Amino acid sequence: MLSINMMSFPEGKSKALTLSYDDGVLQDKRLISLMNKYGIKGTFNLNSEIIGKVRSMTVDGIDINTSTVSEDEILELYKNHEIATHGSKHSALTGLGASALQEIIDDRIYFENLLCYIVRGHAYPFGLYDNNVINMLKTAGICYARTVKSTKTFDIPENFLEWNPTCHHSDKDLMLLAEKFCTQNALFNKPELFYLWGHSYEFDQFSNWNVIEEFFEYISKFSKNIWFVTNIEVVDYINAYKNLIYSADGNKVFNPSIQTVWLNCTGKIISIPSNKTVYIS
Ligand SMILES: [Zn+2]
Repeated sequence: MLSINMMSFPEGKSKALTLSYDDGVLQDKRLISLMNKYGIKGTFNLNSEIIGKVRSMTVDGIDINTSTVSEDEILELYKNHEIATHGSKHSALTGLGASALQEIIDDRIYFENLLCYIVRGHAYPFGLYDNNVINMLKTAGICYARTVKSTKTFDIPENFLEWNPTCHHSDKDLMLLAEKFCTQNALFNKPELFYLWGHSYEFDQFSNWNVIEEFFEYISKFSKNIWFVTNIEVVDYINAYKNLIYSADGNKVFNPSIQTVWLNCTGKIISIPSNKTVYIS
């Protein structure tokens, strides 16, 4: 009989949504209160040497407050979400030589001293990277890094160190993509990931906080089939899936990881607990 075993997200869900917001600015407070209201989760990419700075920028004659969250606010504000590195000084990491490595290591040390977990993520400042930067990230213990290249798809990346998002929140097709994501299933219920990114000060800059609230309001109506998640939770789950070990006849699966993995076996959802072997046919 024809059988198709496909990864499923936790609880048999076929979709996941993750957010990625940069620079640790004060507007993260309003964004996070909206995310928490709708049960949305995400990752915030901060610069350890630009914490608690008062600053602004002027674009087209409009002053935008780009001040950053202070050290004593970080733990409470970001507690339901993930903090990742963004380079201690927010330098373009290409052409920096070894100091690019230093910027990542400095971020890791700073945030790991502040938080209770190991910091393993990154977003490329200005979206700039090359093979040297990727190799330095690997050396620095970083396991995923976000680019700024929109795919307008819901594909799970082949290489997490070049993790292209679905789109920026200002994309004119944002709600069309949200509708497609929520109402259409891929062939064989292949799992799909919506990855949204931006800077929260842009909502002040363009006076468009309504855009993100409408997106959250719409997508949260489909929460039964969507896993709301941080970036690192996506990476860890997919790695756990990739580490499943199958018996020679394909009837049994062993899960050596520390978390339960779900499979969609020709339409039947099967959970494989940590350190257990399960019959899948
Ligand atoms: Zn940035």
